[in-house]
Amino acid sequence: MKTKRGLLCAAIAAFLLCINLMCVYAKETESKGRVLFISSYSYGRTNTQAQIEGMTAKMGKNIVLDYEFMDTKRVDDEVSRQQFYESISYRMSRSEPYDVVILGDDAAFLFAMEYRETLFDGIPLVYQGVNDEDITMEFLEDPTITGIAEELSVEENISFGLTLYPWARKVVAILDDSITGQAERKSFYECAERYPDLIFKEINTSSLTTNELRREIRKLGKDTLLLYIIMTEDASGRRYSDEEASQMIVNHARIPTLCMLEDRMGNGFLGGNVVSMYRSGEIAAKIATDIVYGYQNDAIGTIIDSPNIYCIDELAMKRFELSLSLIPEDAVVINHQPSFWERNKEALVPGSILVIVLLAAIFWVVIDNYKRRKLMEELEEARNIMESASQHDFLTGLSNRSKFMMDLKDYVAAGTPCTIMMLDIDHFKSINDTYGHSAGDEALRQLADRLKEMQTPILTPYRFAGDEFIILLKSAQKKIVDKEVFKCSQLFKDSFTLAGEKKQIGGSIGIASYPADAVEVEQLINCADDAMYQVKKSGRNHYAFYHG
Ligand code: GH3
Ligand code: MG
Repeated sequence: MKTKRGLLCAAIAAFLLCINLMCVYAKETESKGRVLFISSYSYGRTNTQAQIEGMTAKMGKNIVLDYEFMDTKRVDDEVSRQQFYESISYRMSRSEPYDVVILGDDAAFLFAMEYRETLFDGIPLVYQGVNDEDITMEFLEDPTITGIAEELSVEENISFGLTLYPWARKVVAILDDSITGQAERKSFYECAERYPDLIFKEINTSSLTTNELRREIRKLGKDTLLLYIIMTEDASGRRYSDEEASQMIVNHARIPTLCMLEDRMGNGFLGGNVVSMYRSGEIAAKIATDIVYGYQNDAIGTIIDSPNIYCIDELAMKRFELSLSLIPEDAVVINHQPSFWERNKEALVPGSILVIVLLAAIFWVVIDNYKRRKLMEELEEARNIMESASQHDFLTGLSNRSKFMMDLKDYVAAGTPCTIMMLDIDHFKSINDTYGHSAGDEALRQLADRLKEMQTPILTPYRFAGDEFIILLKSAQKKIVDKEVFKCSQLFKDSFTLAGEKKQIGGSIGIASYPADAVEVEQLINCADDAMYQVKKSGRNHYAFYHG
């Protein structure tokens, strides 16, 4: 019973969970949230575009994002503001209300504050561009306002500059007397306390003529960290756009220029720790989405830290011969010059694989060839051993009967005169009987050793069979034959040592020559055998020539 109730409860809980999840999903997919982004500037500005790109990337599904641009960099007066108000209030009266309004920088925020009740009453605001000196800080107490800080970090940039130029003794900031310039001047000199070994100086563009400005910038040497902050004017009355200011500095400075603003990057500045407008856009979109979907987000109603990143221009790094290994790992690198590998990766990857495969194939073929050759050598060696074994007598190490037959046949075939001496040990059986079979073997070996000593290029001894040996002499000349026959008869002169005993042994030798005695191999052997038999008959231990 209890189990049944438990199962029922679990099923109900699972059902409720499913319903809940479906509701959240439906809320996310069906919700038609509306977010308005009001920029203080125009769409064409790099910063504005980066903000919008970040917002678009992170804005929740089905949320409509509208844009309005105050364009205060072009015209910033009461008339322009009034007209902007009229146009926006007309458009807002003709459309659905917005759930969240994102405000890009001070002008947009001040505008929203001014018309809070008439246009944005009760609408949560997300303000991108809070900084310490902000005159609008007081509004940020409001829990419906979320601020995203935008703070230039002089300290981070000096610290980064010192990793590139550890020997630097001076930090020089380029700034002017504009409101922003004055605010940044304060934070620049505040930083000096943290770097007592560095001299903090400025190039105030508002107090220098165009020529003086050029000279001052050119004068800066390698002991200086140059920090670009703001430059809108000079004392000659010249106004500078962002691009013009960048060009003026980059063209005249002999040292790299650190820059804290993302939108000035790409004009030759080295870069540094910059406020990322893209990240700021992403954060604003996330906050807006959470508000629209009704998600819990503790950051709503607070001030979020400035989304600063490191942004480095690779071309500028190369120009000043600075190693890319010095930049922080998570830095965004612009003007990246692809390496040979990066440029040709698509061709190099399959190419490398092909080369590796080919090398492996070549390696395999070489190894296979080597193995084959080794095998052939081993086979050849084995064949030689077998051949040698087939032509040698195992007991005595002398060439055997089959080798003798081959050699003799060769001589006869070539018509080479030769002589054979057939030698048979006398009464060998009695040696075996008296001293044992192994002593008989020993006697055979000792006789073989004596025969081997006789070996010359024209004389070869063989073991023919049992106690019979044959000597093949490559000559039939009487003088030579007599000499060798005599040597042969001396083989038994010295005693043999058998089973530790000295024993005198005898041998009978029969001699026949080719072609005088026979012209056929077998015949010749028979002749020698006959002669040897004659010796046996006439008392043994002597020699005899064959006489037909
Ligand atoms: P003869 O004087 O008439 O030659 O008498 P013999 O005793 O030597 O007789 P024969 O030559 O006919 O006999 C050879 C003997 O040699 C027969 C065999 O027992 C012995 N024998 C053959 N091969 C070997 C061998 O490899 N080792 C040993 N120990 N004895 C062998
Ligand atoms: Mg014998």
